[in-house]
Amino acid sequence: MRVKCVICDSINELDDDLPLAKKLRNRPIHTYTCPECYGRIAANTEKRLATGNFRFFRTSSPIDEEF
Ligand SMILES: [Zn+2]
Repeated sequence: MRVKCVICDSINELDDDLPLAKKLRNRPIHTYTCPECYGRIAANTEKRLATGNFRFFRTSSPIDEEF
């Protein structure tokens, strides 16, 4: 399936068998973030952790809560 990164609008092709592809199909509320943007967000999260302004979400994929 084709997915578009919500941050940089780049189009990527996801293997339909990937768990992420299934998740995006079944639950449209989930957004796709390309690996590059995902890495950027992870870096920002670390920064927030360092400043103490970070709140933990009880979820296996905290990135989904960002958008
Ligand atoms: Zn991106």
